[in-house]
Amino acid sequence: MNIVLMGCPGAGKGTQSAKLQETFGLKHISTGDVLRAEIASGSELGQQIAQIIDKGNLVPDGLMISMLEKIVRHTDQGIIFDGFPRTVAQAQALDEMLQRFERSITCVIMITLPESEVVGRVSLRRQCRQCEEILHVEDPGETRCPKCGGELYTRPDDTPARVKHRLEVYHCETLPVKNYYVNSGKYVEVNGNQTPDQVFKDICNVLEKVK
Ligand code: AMP
Repeated sequence: MNIVLMGCPGAGKGTQSAKLQETFGLKHISTGDVLRAEIASGSELGQQIAQIIDKGNLVPDGLMISMLEKIVRHTDQGIIFDGFPRTVAQAQALDEMLQRFERSITCVIMITLPESEVVGRVSLRRQCRQCEEILHVEDPGETRCPKCGGELYTRPDDTPARVKHRLEVYHCETLPVKNYYVNSGKYVEVNGNQTPDQVFKDICNVLEKVK
């Protein structure tokens, strides 16, 4: 089973990917995490990537596709693609890549969220410097990770101004990907404006039909 998980910033792709990974034993590939790991490595490439991500822009297709291909090549399990494809060129490259590896997309799940919810949701998202857990705080002043006590921080691309820009990028670059998939018969929308457990239940119902 190979699942493409789509949705605007804050839609809950990361949260649902973690649940899917645990329940179905799939490999979770988050291109955002792949890029952040490259940044954390301190490489020159990582420094260039940081400049792009921190502004809320997309990393060039060629680079993103080759980074993803290296991971897919070494993965035998089913995959959750979280945050990829983000452009039509990436969607075409993914089809071509999967065909080469004798795989195919089982299902494209779009987690929908009203735009009015996005900035509020993302403004409560924090990451722990120590255990790298991503979580949603109830109190914006919360500074300590409830799991390990590490320091919480807001990703530079999660500030309200950056989120608004990322939404614009999403509209221009990523929504056309939806049209790319709509006619494939594999595209399904799930309402992301519910509790994470309810969203997951809806996703499982979708997967039950396509498995
Ligand atoms: P995410 O963690 O999925 O929200 O991604 C964080 C940032 O990483 C995005 O705003 C982009 O700058 C970059 N990024 C992640 N995935 C891609 C992709 N498929 N193509 C280009 N840039 C990406």
